[in-house]
Amino acid sequence: MFVCLRLALPTPVRRLFDYLPPQHIDNNNLIIGIRVKVPFRSRTLIGILVEIAHASTVPSTKLKTAIELLDSKPLLPKDVYRLCCWAADYYHHSLGEVLMSALPALLRKGRRPVAREMPMGSTAAGDTFRTLNIAQQAAVTTIHTAQNHFRVFLLNGVTGSGKTEVYLHAIANILNNKQQILVLVPEISLTPQVIERFRARFAIPIAALHSGLSEQERLATWLAAKSGMVSIVIGTRSAIFTPFANLGLIIVDEEHDNSFKQQDRFRYHARDLAIMRANMGRFPIVLGSATPSLESLYNVKRGRYQVLLLPDRAGEATLPRYVVLDLRSALVKQGLSRDLLDAMQVHLRQGNQVILFLNRRGFAPVLYCVQCGWVAECKRCDTNMVFHREPCKLHCHHCDARCPVPDTCMQCGYTGLQPLGLGTQRLEQTLMACFPHVPIIRVDRDNTRRKGAIQDLLKKINQQKQAILLGTQMLAKGHHFPRVTLVGIVDADSSLFSTDFRAPEQMGQLLLQVAGRAGRAERSGTVMIQTRYPDHALLKMLLHQGYQHFSTALLVEREQMGLPPYSYLAIFRAESYCEERAHHFLAAVKKLNVPHAITALGPVPALLARRKGLHCFHLLVKASHRGILQNYLKSVLPEAEKLATRRSVKWALDVDPVEM
Ligand code: ADP
Ligand code: ZN
Ligand code: ZN
Repeated sequence: MFVCLRLALPTPVRRLFDYLPPQHIDNNNLIIGIRVKVPFRSRTLIGILVEIAHASTVPSTKLKTAIELLDSKPLLPKDVYRLCCWAADYYHHSLGEVLMSALPALLRKGRRPVAREMPMGSTAAGDTFRTLNIAQQAAVTTIHTAQNHFRVFLLNGVTGSGKTEVYLHAIANILNNKQQILVLVPEISLTPQVIERFRARFAIPIAALHSGLSEQERLATWLAAKSGMVSIVIGTRSAIFTPFANLGLIIVDEEHDNSFKQQDRFRYHARDLAIMRANMGRFPIVLGSATPSLESLYNVKRGRYQVLLLPDRAGEATLPRYVVLDLRSALVKQGLSRDLLDAMQVHLRQGNQVILFLNRRGFAPVLYCVQCGWVAECKRCDTNMVFHREPCKLHCHHCDARCPVPDTCMQCGYTGLQPLGLGTQRLEQTLMACFPHVPIIRVDRDNTRRKGAIQDLLKKINQQKQAILLGTQMLAKGHHFPRVTLVGIVDADSSLFSTDFRAPEQMGQLLLQVAGRAGRAERSGTVMIQTRYPDHALLKMLLHQGYQHFSTALLVEREQMGLPPYSYLAIFRAESYCEERAHHFLAAVKKLNVPHAITALGPVPALLARRKGLHCFHLLVKASHRGILQNYLKSVLPEAEKLATRRSVKWALDVDPVEM
């Protein structure tokens, strides 16, 4: 009988590809889910066998023959395979690319699924469980009652309220039940401390999955989780596809964090996929945050998620005091007001640590000519080059282009080019002059690229007594610095005015995350916020009434404006070296059948209108229900894929976008 293999291949094309089985193959070896090597154009590709058909739309004379079957049984367990199928459908992405992103690189390249050794790390337990306070105990008990049932919990507790302690107790219950646990964390910089804390608590193998691992280590961890050899996996967003023998709980820490959303190619949201995975696998999931996303808060309001509140800081620690410093009337020296400098003196003299937060790396964001006003810009992007001091260069933070710093103005030849504005390197220089005897530790992307660099910096911080920690958002998230008693937010204004409707939400989350670094142990903390807009309504609400009020107000605003979570969005993004072509393609998509229930806005240039020389345009589509949006996308995409104008652009669809 005629047999044809239908394969999901790692190409962006959203369809399956038909092949004849390799010659002299026993049909019993054709099993759904195995990898198959095939010729594709002038290359060979490795795909996954998805269907075995007895007819093909391709004439049999044109069908190519597969080269080789790589497995004797399916590589992905059924639940991960099902999750991938769901994700490919929901995000309208090629199934082949989705399945491949679920595999460790070595398996994508055709390696046999065996690992040489298990780099699992030592199991140095020794830390004991803390006695929980009443709120923590209630949370742990509630999570426990949901064992083996699908339930979504939102663990909403201020920073330092003991959320991690709740995770650890909930995990212990799952381990007693002989099940495995997946913990998703937003960023690599967060993992060392989290993993240490878990390893100190449990005398069992705990695996970390993150981009810093070698391919060999990734494969070993993947296999260990699949076979049940490892009980706890902690990882960043792609760890959501890890196979488990018996998964019983997922924890998503800092669930509001945008790094759970992949921003290129397969644009999935790991938190949302985690909820779907728990739903399919019938087990509980805990989303934890001090500043939950509006989406999750809305789901609590609708009764879909159950909220678990930790209203107070655990142990003796108290919440920090806020002080707003009006930059308009203050005496300011290199971006730091007198009051902030004085407060730093006081805290440092007491042997405490101070954090200064500035979300801008480099020396200065602008290099300009005082004579003619010329500004150094990136040749390929619509943005300024950032001036860096060590090493000395101009650097585009969008396309990574670098060039030497010019001695003279490119426009008028004047020799007095000036750096304008404040970056972390410049602030570091100022601080060294103001506090010559205090260790100053900078943490940003420029000095943490090296593997292990962030661990070294964190260790240095914990070994010091008095010190100034200075950094970008890398310093803001999750870390526990018991000696920090003062946090200074150098510039709160850059986030107050943005065209992205999510900017206020993100501003509030980041501000409170940074503030949460102050006074986490027995010493109480102070947060000083420098701003030119001390009367900004949202800022005032956040500081005086707290995140609860702030987020409720934002939700009201979103509802009035018909924005998510009260509506559902997708963005068609198109790029081309030719501005018109990008625009034309999206205009053509908009002309395709758009039902009444869909609002289409655009095409408009993206916020960064040109990147790496490519002009970027957006077409935003919006619906009041998820189903309506999905149906529209399902019907319009095949049409869009046939448009003649598509050939001259690079385009992609972003479902539930988090960045405009
Ligand atoms: P979060 O994850 O909410 O920021 P953590 O779990 O890190 O909070 O707890 C903050 C600090 O409080 C940690 O030092 C932790 O050991 C301590 N802690 C947590 N729960 C308790 C408790 N029940 N009793 C005493 N200390 C606690
Ligand atoms: Zn000039
Ligand atoms: Zn650039």
